[in-house]
Amino acid sequence: MSGRAQLMWDEAVTGYDFGPDHPMDPVRLALTRRLVDAFGLDREVDVVAAKPAGDSTLRLVHREDYVEAVKAASVDPRAADAAYGLGTMDDPAFAGMHEVSALIAGQSVGAAEAVWRGDALHAVNFAGGLHHAMPGGASGFCIYNDASLAIARLLELGAERVAYVDVDVHHGDGVQAAFWEDPRVLTVSLHEHPRTLFPQTGWPEETGAAGAEGSAVNVALPAGTGDAGWLRAFHSVVPELIADFRPQVLVTQHGADTHFEDPLAHLAVSLDAQRAVQVACHELAHEYAEGRWVALGGGGYAVVDVVPRSWTHLVAIAAGREVAPSSVIPESWRQEVFARTRQLGPVRMTDGRWPVSFVGWDAGYDPADRLDQAVLAARRAAFPLRGLLA
Ligand SMILES: [Zn+2]
Repeated sequence: MSGRAQLMWDEAVTGYDFGPDHPMDPVRLALTRRLVDAFGLDREVDVVAAKPAGDSTLRLVHREDYVEAVKAASVDPRAADAAYGLGTMDDPAFAGMHEVSALIAGQSVGAAEAVWRGDALHAVNFAGGLHHAMPGGASGFCIYNDASLAIARLLELGAERVAYVDVDVHHGDGVQAAFWEDPRVLTVSLHEHPRTLFPQTGWPEETGAAGAEGSAVNVALPAGTGDAGWLRAFHSVVPELIADFRPQVLVTQHGADTHFEDPLAHLAVSLDAQRAVQVACHELAHEYAEGRWVALGGGGYAVVDVVPRSWTHLVAIAAGREVAPSSVIPESWRQEVFARTRQLGPVRMTDGRWPVSFVGWDAGYDPADRLDQAVLAARRAAFPLRGLLA
């Protein structure tokens, strides 16, 4: 096993820009990259720019007519075809859209290749995690599904078991759909309940197609879930599934939009709990997947206060040089934040909730508690299909 982690990065990924009124402001990527540098983490990882995903790679997941529609919209945004989800409010077309989307996808595919071949034990692409893109259409700020493409590439390289764990506040619907019929891929998504949030899927009863029963697991969390509940849900579902499935590679998606400050969703998770789940994913990769870990970003619309800190922690964990939550953020980064956004950046790498605590599932559940009901619904729907006790 190889020591150093890879950070996938090409500055051009910041060209993934739907325009000034869109919540997915690419400054979140630039500020994350600068914060990684401010803590000297760029010297602790190999920073690698992979090539863009080519047509044959995109075709592992996406339909040819959809890729052609993206290319057409990329050349002439006025030609965007809403039948493919392009030129919509969520996914406005912009010049160069195909190229930058393929570049982001290429970073996740490159991460998967590096981990599979042993060039790196862990690889991070925080520009990725675009989990809503469907085989035949754009959705939810996502053009190409880099997470699905990374997994598809692993399968192409010979992987027989890949686990995907998605802790974005939104359901990882595109990845679930891509591998709905494939028992080689276990998709686990923890998200805000579809009743209250886009994309209105991710019900516990979604468990995979015939022949792949139990290959999809969905934990639909009540709006308002905070640290203790979110961590209890994660630890009550994910480790047992991973221990049983024994993936050869663990792919995780770390959307930071679970945060209490996030403007687009309604969970109440802190940076400190996000970091605790990142640490847990890292440990699961070591315990059950010989350390092979591909970690992706995802959503996150508190672009100054939350996203850069959350994903800097992710890079630090992958690098094996964790940044203590109490760490003070270098003033140079805060100056850059102000220069770029006219906002004041955060001061520390914590929300002051560290250490976060939760009660594990084995301590028993409360049938009247909505969080416990959500966990039990997920377990009851999927676990028996995998031969596990609900
Ligand atoms: Zn999201």
